[in-house]
Amino acid sequence: MLQITQSWQQELAEGFNNIAEICEYLNITLETAKFIEHSPVFPVRVPREFVDRMRKGDLNDPLLKQILPTKKESLNTPGFTSDPVGDLASMTESSVIHKYFGRVLLITTGSCAINCRYCFRRNFPYNDYQLTTTKHQKAIDYIASHQDISEVILSGGDPLLLSDQKLLDLIKKIESIPHIKRIRIHSRIPIVLPHRITDELCAKLANIEKDLILVVHSNHVNELNSKVKIACRRLKSAHITLLNQAVLLKGINDTAEQLCALHEKLFTFQVMPYYLHLLDKATGTAHFEVSHHDSIELMNQIKAILPGYLVPKLVAEQAGATNKIVIA
Ligand SMILES: *Cc1c(COP(=O)(O)O)cnc(C)c1O
Ligand code: SF4
Repeated sequence: MLQITQSWQQELAEGFNNIAEICEYLNITLETAKFIEHSPVFPVRVPREFVDRMRKGDLNDPLLKQILPTKKESLNTPGFTSDPVGDLASMTESSVIHKYFGRVLLITTGSCAINCRYCFRRNFPYNDYQLTTTKHQKAIDYIASHQDISEVILSGGDPLLLSDQKLLDLIKKIESIPHIKRIRIHSRIPIVLPHRITDELCAKLANIEKDLILVVHSNHVNELNSKVKIACRRLKSAHITLLNQAVLLKGINDTAEQLCALHEKLFTFQVMPYYLHLLDKATGTAHFEVSHHDSIELMNQIKAILPGYLVPKLVAEQAGATNKIVIA
């Protein structure tokens, strides 16, 4: 048992943190002029197992493109800002983001197992906000004193980077608040570091009495290998509802064919579609943007192909809004 626990943590520690190394591993000649070799603010971080799912010798691989730090990141594009979703404005001192009615988002940790270049948090000082023990208690107090909150979302960063014990302690404290009905986890880890989903963790999660929802984040069918399938099976056996959120990304998943393949494959893993997000306009991500017009067109195409239950909602986040804006 101990060995299993160590292995995902070791795998995480041994991940790639250098683009030159990744390219060498993939037999790609790096044209260094086009890439940022080291970004101190948002460094390269990718589990090896995720890199193994990329095609060798192909700079256009859809998984590689998600983690490749190009010099386009240093462009300043009008309309792209460092806090596009207004999270900083809604952050309480306890790392609770209370933007929407009935549910709060809790920043459990500042880091992720992978650094996705399109991420809205790339410029965000989440590390300053992560859940220390004092904040942990303050967050619980905040939630306990707001009767209108019925759902707590563990987010970050990636909450599944917490040790089993820290995660379970937190979930149990939240569970003990009477007005909380559901606990939701937002995590890309079942996709990028599936070994983290151990039988041990799932056995503990199965003991949680309130409803647990895990929203994974997969953007492309090539991310979904047999290891991810095993992780999803384990989570399902712990009676967890599995949903997926994806981000619509230029040159990565912006065709009807790719979006259909992604959602059909997710279904075979017992993961239902939830949201397809328009890119949050964070500084340095403009090269991933798919236009509003093209996004709606894509949705019309996939709606004409997929059964209704496999069609995600196309949404955009708007600072100050009461909910995510459903576009299609
Ligand atoms: C996305 C988000 C939620 C959850 O919204 P749902 O529409 O319920 O998925 C909650 N709080 C914040 C701050 C969010 O960004
Ligand atoms: S928060 Fe999600 S999208 Fe952003 S870097 Fe972490 S895993 Fe990637």
